[in-house]
Amino acid sequence: MPRILTLGEIVVEIMARDVGQSLGAPGVLLGPYPSGAPAIFIDQVARLGVPAALVGCVGDDAFGRLVTARLAADGVDVSAVAVLPDATTGAAFVTYRGDGGRDFVFHIADSASGRLGAAQLSPQALQGCTHLHVMGSSLFAPGIVEAALRAVAQVRAAGGTVSFDPNLRQEMLARAGLKAALRQVLAQTDIFLPSGDELTLLVDAEDEATALQRLQALGVREVVIKRGAAGASCIHAGGRSDVAPLAVEEIDPTGAGDCFGGAYVACRLLGHPPEEALRWANAAGARAVTRRGPMEGASTFTELAALLGRVPAPAAAPQECRP
Ligand code: ATP
Ligand code: MG
Repeated sequence: MPRILTLGEIVVEIMARDVGQSLGAPGVLLGPYPSGAPAIFIDQVARLGVPAALVGCVGDDAFGRLVTARLAADGVDVSAVAVLPDATTGAAFVTYRGDGGRDFVFHIADSASGRLGAAQLSPQALQGCTHLHVMGSSLFAPGIVEAALRAVAQVRAAGGTVSFDPNLRQEMLARAGLKAALRQVLAQTDIFLPSGDELTLLVDAEDEATALQRLQALGVREVVIKRGAAGASCIHAGGRSDVAPLAVEEIDPTGAGDCFGGAYVACRLLGHPPEEALRWANAAGARAVTRRGPMEGASTFTELAALLGRVPAPAAAPQECRP
């Protein structure tokens, strides 16, 4: 049985109610909602019924309890989430621009999540993990980079695979050492899940074709390109697959990429071929944007099947497709 592990920030998200609102002025904010890119990713994995575990840190406070309770209720193993008595749980504040862009204020680096380190990476946490997912956005402190690289090495040494979503935000790029850490993870990645410029950025390529060549030379076996409301593509050993976006009403785009990634990786580990995993992931990303709150739109197979108009509900499909 596959078991997927990820590590990184566990936070709440507090969001503007209206498009065009600014965090530089008082306004109506909604939340707290469970969030943190690795947390959303692993919640989506668990909702698809694949064993899932998260390594991270929260404070001994209501925010931390909110997120860990949700993850546990959805089936994520949170036994490796440390509750730190002298730190507070992280928070992200987000506003939506009229042009579709988002602005964030992060209280994460100086929160409990910033204390994550190799100490949290116990043998029990890694036990039985067949796949590790790394979020680039989580690599904001040297201790976290060390923990992530150690986890990558241990999962690979045990014959497991690695997926990597850079998940970069403009606000993060200035961080010292971030790009170098991202490149180290990329060089050990099996499934790469970039969106936008992330495809070319880490391999210094001018265009998509050059980036794909360089990624292949690095040993990346599958590149899954997220294109927001334009759908997604996957370049894999069997060629290339593209999937058109599903028509949905976008309420809140935050978390779509994480749900997409969680669904793609879960489906691949269940034995679905890349083009089939891409269809489920496309549906998971589409459904995610229809809910306010980044983790609220994580889906079960039954919910995805309903969106895809598939009959019968394919909760049993993964078993049938297992290699
Ligand atoms: P984030 O990091 O903000 O969570 P991302 O940039 O990593 O997002 P997106 O490309 O925004 O990821 O979304 C992931 C996938 O979800 C898309 O490739 C697409 O399949 C689906 N998706 C996202 N937005 C929409 C939309 N408005 N309509 C339909 N599908 C969407
Ligand atoms: Mg993303």
